[in-house]
Amino acid sequence: MKTDIHPKYQEVTVHCVCGNTFKTRSTALKIELEICSNCHPFYTGKQKLVDTAGRVERFRRRYAKAEEKPSKGKSTKAKS
Ligand SMILES: [Zn+2]
Repeated sequence: MKTDIHPKYQEVTVHCVCGNTFKTRSTALKIELEICSNCHPFYTGKQKLVDTAGRVERFRRRYAKAEEKPSKGKSTKAKS
C-alpha cells in the first residue's frame, strides 16, 4: 500500500434525525442521516411517511378526484 495517498479511515459517530446515534468506521469525518435502522418503517414495522411538503396528501387528493370522474380527458391541463 502506498503511503500518503489514502484517506484516514477512522471511527465516526453517525447521527440520525430521530436522535439515534451509533459508531462506525469511515473516511468521512461526520455522518448525518435522515433515516436509520432505528426509525425506518422496514425495521420498526410502523407506517411512517417521510412527507416533507404534503406531497402524499396532494397525490391522494388528486387520485380521489380522478376516481370520481372516470377518465374522459387525458390531462386536466388540456383545455384549449
Ligand atoms: Zn433514525
